[in-house]
Amino acid sequence: MKVLVLNCGSSSVKYQLLEMETEEVIAKGLIERVGKNDAIVNHSPKGYDKIKYVTALLDHRAAIEKMLCELTDSNHGVIHDKKEIDAVGHRLVHGAEKFAHSVLVTAEVIAKMEECIELAPLHNPPNITGVRIMDEQLPNTPQVGVFDTAFHQTMPDYAYLYGLPYELYRQHGVRRYGFHGTSHFYVAHEAAKKLGKPIESLKIITVHLGNGASITAIDGGKSVDTSMGLTPLEGLVMGTRCGDLDPAIPFFLGRKMNLGIKELDDLLNKKSGMLGLSMLSNDMREIEDKMLKEKDPQCTLAMKIYCYRIKKYIGSYAAAMGGLDAVVFTAGVGENSPVIREMVCDNMEFLGISIDAKVNDCRGYARISTPESRVAVFSIPTNEELVIARDTKKIVGSMQGSKETAAGA
Ligand code: AMP
Repeated sequence: MKVLVLNCGSSSVKYQLLEMETEEVIAKGLIERVGKNDAIVNHSPKGYDKIKYVTALLDHRAAIEKMLCELTDSNHGVIHDKKEIDAVGHRLVHGAEKFAHSVLVTAEVIAKMEECIELAPLHNPPNITGVRIMDEQLPNTPQVGVFDTAFHQTMPDYAYLYGLPYELYRQHGVRRYGFHGTSHFYVAHEAAKKLGKPIESLKIITVHLGNGASITAIDGGKSVDTSMGLTPLEGLVMGTRCGDLDPAIPFFLGRKMNLGIKELDDLLNKKSGMLGLSMLSNDMREIEDKMLKEKDPQCTLAMKIYCYRIKKYIGSYAAAMGGLDAVVFTAGVGENSPVIREMVCDNMEFLGISIDAKVNDCRGYARISTPESRVAVFSIPTNEELVIARDTKKIVGSMQGSKETAAGA
């Protein structure tokens, strides 16, 4: 079975085509600047050189058509016809309380996804556009939706409710939803495999540090708390997002600087975090370099704040779960920055966390804790696309199974 995994963002289309018998990626790509005259197509077909070029792609339809052309190209195509795609798995951002699992996309599912738009006005519309375009392109091919929020639907009410009037939850769905669920799920299961223990017996904290960042407490395989909230703005200090702050700060700044809602939204989502603190960049490599090579005080301060926030969350989630067996670092920063892993884990022996500086000096997979460390600490590359492809295969497989059963009956 060939599964196409599609992630339609506001100005990008990211995709992978997987052969599910072997779980091998046979092509992948990223189309950036969708909607512009100078969109950038990056396409990597297995067995051929990478392709990169600039072209006009004025909307998502043009970008998806371009992706299908690349996949079926007469020179470097990995399939002859788009109909060889057996199923499409979509990364969908916000499923609110409507989706606790991945689902086969139907008209009813699309209608429910549309109801979630007000909770994720930037992310859900392009996600839905992707589903509609693929339905036009491959009308007889099943499509599956995998939600970033679904894994966190197991959180107990006392973890997901805010100290706001309860009516706001009932009427407007104001609560913690959490994001990056597919990534947290994947790396927690990988850690359990590496430990050779059933995930049901483990208390794990997964630390997803990409441009967006979140941390999750996973008890017995279930998400019991996570740092992102109603939106991805809450929690850790991120590339350009502020994370946790006194909720009165936007009122204070609004009055003081005469800022409206849109400007405050931009300030907290796009100009804060590591970009705002370092006064340099949201790219962790640049900030880390300045700290290490030039001892730049601003970058050093930004890094300290970033790591301190993660450390505080690890402590609070260990307390929330009443114990801790493993900590997993993942995503761009988590998988690639020994410095940040070391700063976070420094002075955590009281909690049973002790890392080996030499082993930690690596990228990608490693068990970085010392043999004596009570808590196992890992760096594990995330693979959200694989989770989406597996869920898609499972759902489509069970659908075909039930058709066969019905036919046989
Ligand atoms: P992601 O959103 O998972 O693609 O992660 C993007 C972030 O990972 C960016 O802030 C990058 O600077 C960061 N990153 C990638 N490689 C490294 C590295 N070697 N050291 C530190 N940060 C890195």
